[in-house]
Amino acid sequence: MNQTTPKFRRLAGACLLAALCGTASMPATVSAQDIEPALTAEEISMVQWLAAEEAAMLSLMERLSNLNSGSLNKSGIDAMADIFGSELRALGFATSRLPGDVIEMPSCPGSEYTVDLADHLLAVHSGTGPRLLLMGHLDTVFPPDSPFQQFSRDGDTMYGPGVSDMKSGLIIMLYALKALAASGYLDDKAITVLLNSDEEMGSLSSRKYLEAQAAEHDFGLVYESSGNNSMVRQRKGLGQARFVVHGKAAHAGGAHEQGRSAIKELAYKVVEIEKLTDYESGVTVNVGVISGGEARNTIAPCAEALVDLRYPEPQQGLDAVAAFESIFDSVYSYAVNSGELSTESWTNLHRPPKIPTPESDALLEKTIAVGRLLGQELGVTDSGGGTDGSLTQAAGLPTLDSLGAAGTGAHSDREQARISSLVERAQLSAVLIARLAAQAEN
Ligand SMILES: [Zn+2]
Repeated sequence: MNQTTPKFRRLAGACLLAALCGTASMPATVSAQDIEPALTAEEISMVQWLAAEEAAMLSLMERLSNLNSGSLNKSGIDAMADIFGSELRALGFATSRLPGDVIEMPSCPGSEYTVDLADHLLAVHSGTGPRLLLMGHLDTVFPPDSPFQQFSRDGDTMYGPGVSDMKSGLIIMLYALKALAASGYLDDKAITVLLNSDEEMGSLSSRKYLEAQAAEHDFGLVYESSGNNSMVRQRKGLGQARFVVHGKAAHAGGAHEQGRSAIKELAYKVVEIEKLTDYESGVTVNVGVISGGEARNTIAPCAEALVDLRYPEPQQGLDAVAAFESIFDSVYSYAVNSGELSTESWTNLHRPPKIPTPESDALLEKTIAVGRLLGQELGVTDSGGGTDGSLTQAAGLPTLDSLGAAGTGAHSDREQARISSLVERAQLSAVLIARLAAQAEN
């Protein structure tokens, strides 16, 4: 990950974000109050209201973590959507479900790969002024048969599916909205919540809804984890490919020369694909899963692979896809391709790079300044991972995408988060939302 030195607008004669300005620390003469006015009495009461909610937030966290919602577990995701739907309706939101999709991908016979995605939850609070789009995902990477299913805690650390990525973020979003409602801030505010079912699958179904909503809003807030108390400014783009090599089965002893090994051809393709990694340009590929073949003594009639792609610039993504296509179309393993070897493929650049804009930097800067008012010191970082915030930012919506709990170990059985960050980040969001929603439109 490279920390870039962007053009960054200066405020109050100095640069607030030391990490962005390349200076070691903020000049002592510049305080958060120079950027953001001090907390109002109403905001302080909202912050205090949230401080008393930790037990309730933690209890919901335990319940949701123990409720499996792996990306393909439709009933689990529906249960999650039911919980948030009724909570949001109680706050005055009108809710509806956006249909998920069935997506078919090429596969070897007998390992049919069809992705049947659950519906997404849309909740709309009508109002005037700047329109805020709050986003999060209902799914996790852990299927119902994963050994990692249970919530646990030890002191100020919690463990379990979604404690960082990102059921905790959904709870933080919900409680920020509850605090706003309790203080009367929500009454006339235009806030939309979109919780999708398929973020961990690359938002293959929800992308169109996210992009449509992005066009209708002024600010985007995504409740992915804030890692080690850091806001992510910039992200790489992501792509994925799935390819299936079809060959010709034959007895490995009696008719070896008549076979066309799909595994052999796949192996050559894997090497060619892996050659596309270039650390200097920031493009990386990873063939993360391969499978194929039928028996030790059978020339493999079919083999398949899943490929992950990361790229800093949009054109690099397009170039990588073109390189994939060329590799899929080529035959490397036999001097003469008699037509008995063929490759099916599916590729998708599912996340554009998240490239900062002056508007998204201003949103980041405001969030960090509000954090300082609350005694929260937030850093700035870049990431090789993508979120739905990359989609909305690329669609023109200034988006901040790491407003969730301080957590680490996502996508592993080491997933954990700091319990006290639940209340902290809800306080941050409540004040941030109140201030964004109150901004004069320009
Ligand atoms: Zn996530």
